[in-house]
Amino acid sequence: MSQPETQLLKVVDAFDLDDELRSLLRPGEMVRDAQGRRHRLPRYFYEIESHETAVQTRLTPHFGLNEFILVDLKEAARLQQFPRYVPCAVRLLAFYLEQFRTVVQSSAHIAVNGGYRSPAHKMSTEATPHMWATAADVYRIGANILKTKEMIEKFNEAAEDLSEDISVLPYGHVTGRNADDHVHIDVCYLTLIPREISEDRMEQPQENRPRFAFEERRRRERRAPAPPPEIVKAE
Ligand SMILES: [Zn+2]
Repeated sequence: MSQPETQLLKVVDAFDLDDELRSLLRPGEMVRDAQGRRHRLPRYFYEIESHETAVQTRLTPHFGLNEFILVDLKEAARLQQFPRYVPCAVRLLAFYLEQFRTVVQSSAHIAVNGGYRSPAHKMSTEATPHMWATAADVYRIGANILKTKEMIEKFNEAAEDLSEDISVLPYGHVTGRNADDHVHIDVCYLTLIPREISEDRMEQPQENRPRFAFEERRRRERRAPAPPPEIVKAE
């Protein structure tokens, strides 16, 4: 891979994936959260070809795509194999984490199983924004391992002050309801529909249509001057 930084991510409609992947990712299905409210699972995913691609794809200056897909054996085996899939909204989460990082003036480290968790993940017993790739569990900020109530509340406050869009979990010991060893930052049940995708079709596979799209180039890349044309001098 000669120019990984300009590589475009492939966007797929999960309805077009094979049966196994579809049954694990459950695009468009409704799931209930802890309060019994229903939420529709995301449908559009980035397809990540390889570990190398995940490491080399920067979502923001300080967050690589790989940081959001660290899982252990709690994730379905098929979803740990490349190509891997992550809902497109992960880019927005990274944007907010980058702002958070600026405010706290330290690096923020996402825990294993603390980024995207598919609906098949063992921790996905009820809907959480982790299943939308819009939540991150940060276990370390700079040199601080987040263990104390004081520290977690301090960073929770910093996250909440950033934007009305951000939610955190209060300090406490009940998994899923609150947190005692990390700061959970989420931007709600946010679904991102890439502009390259056309939504005007049924959920059944159809013939004669593109099965995926590639992201358009980032603004800065589009603005980069084109290489000068090769000038061939006439004799
Ligand atoms: Zn969390």
